[in-house]
Amino acid sequence: MVKKTLRDIDTAGKRVLVRVDFNVPINGSGNVTDDNRLRTALPTINYLVENKAKVILVSHLGRPKGKVVEKYKMDPVAESLSGLMGRRVVKVDDCVGEVTKNAVAGMKEGDVLLLENVRFHPEEEKNDAGFARRLAEPAEVFVNDAFGAAHRAHASTTGVARFLPAVAGFLMEKELEALGGILEAPGRPFAAVIGGAKVSDKINFLSSLLQKVDLLIIGGGMANTFLAAQGYDVGKSLLEADKAGLAKEIIKEAGDRGVKFLLPVDVVAAKEAAPGAARVTVTVDQIPPDYMVLDIGPKTVAYFTEALKNAKTVFWNGPIGVFEIEDFSRGTKAVARALAGIDAVTVIGGGDSVAAVRDAGVADKMTHNSTGGGASLKFLEGKQLPGVAALLDR
Ligand code: ADP
Ligand code: MG
Repeated sequence: MVKKTLRDIDTAGKRVLVRVDFNVPINGSGNVTDDNRLRTALPTINYLVENKAKVILVSHLGRPKGKVVEKYKMDPVAESLSGLMGRRVVKVDDCVGEVTKNAVAGMKEGDVLLLENVRFHPEEEKNDAGFARRLAEPAEVFVNDAFGAAHRAHASTTGVARFLPAVAGFLMEKELEALGGILEAPGRPFAAVIGGAKVSDKINFLSSLLQKVDLLIIGGGMANTFLAAQGYDVGKSLLEADKAGLAKEIIKEAGDRGVKFLLPVDVVAAKEAAPGAARVTVTVDQIPPDYMVLDIGPKTVAYFTEALKNAKTVFWNGPIGVFEIEDFSRGTKAVARALAGIDAVTVIGGGDSVAAVRDAGVADKMTHNSTGGGASLKFLEGKQLPGVAALLDR
């Protein structure tokens, strides 16, 4: 690690502001439905508590766009975290100002406080310096443990680091070491599996990925754009037709670089993305016009699995199908099991991808499950993450 971590500074008895990524799913009844992001922050929080620091946690939740939005309040998170820690985590109704200052003034050593959603203030995403100063004000040290938000230069990820000594938390450290390893010296063959739904977000990333990997496997919604670019009719599938040109360039570039490039050869298609919908398994040249592609077929499972067998490094982002629905989860689960069974460094990046690997029951077989989708992609492009750059050098 080139950056200082929690171990490199004295936090005993200090007021420590910790940026965490508690952007967790919350259901209609106000319960946290997946507490993975809370659990992964526990090593840092517990260390600080044991060190008798006063722990002030701050996070974003959802996209409230600079306003107070009831469903994005942090109360369910405080409750869930209290349960996990077996101690009361007090929530404050703002992240700056008098209420926050007073709450911090009342803290005892080893106490944990959770501030209100930092994105309720429009200044957060604008990385406003005055707001960052107010956020920093009650604290003496800043710890960034929010790898999942490190690719964004916001007040709570980079701004506060101008006003406080800033170091990495243990989750941040773990993420940077795992991803740094596969970026700098990947065992070869190095394979990437890219799927999911955010095609336009991710397609530009493929070009820089081609400079690093030996094998690129495309599945999920992403594959439809490539199949369409090759002239296949993908029916009503999720598709970004305007990316066809880019998709063709990527296929050509893979050829020029000698990177093996795999697309599905057969698919599971259905009339709608719903449980029990009428469905067919067909080769990619037989997709019915009123159907949508929702998973890969058995031939593709075999084809992808075989190609991954000898890989020494695998990075996977984006589910291979609509894994949330049992009928369309087979491809994703098969790929998860394939990765669990090979002798390779396996890194999974992205909220849905990690959830899929957990659904398949093989999360503990992976080398690393990254809490950051966008952040891990940007990191693997070789780009400096602003939230990391802002931390003190060792
Ligand atoms: P991550 O969170 O791991 O970065 P994304 O958010 O990009 O992944 O994509 C996850 C979503 O992609 C899932 O909700 C899944 O249902 C969807 N998906 C996967 N394959 C398809 C497909 N063929 N058609 C539509 N959606 C898909
Ligand atoms: Mg996602």
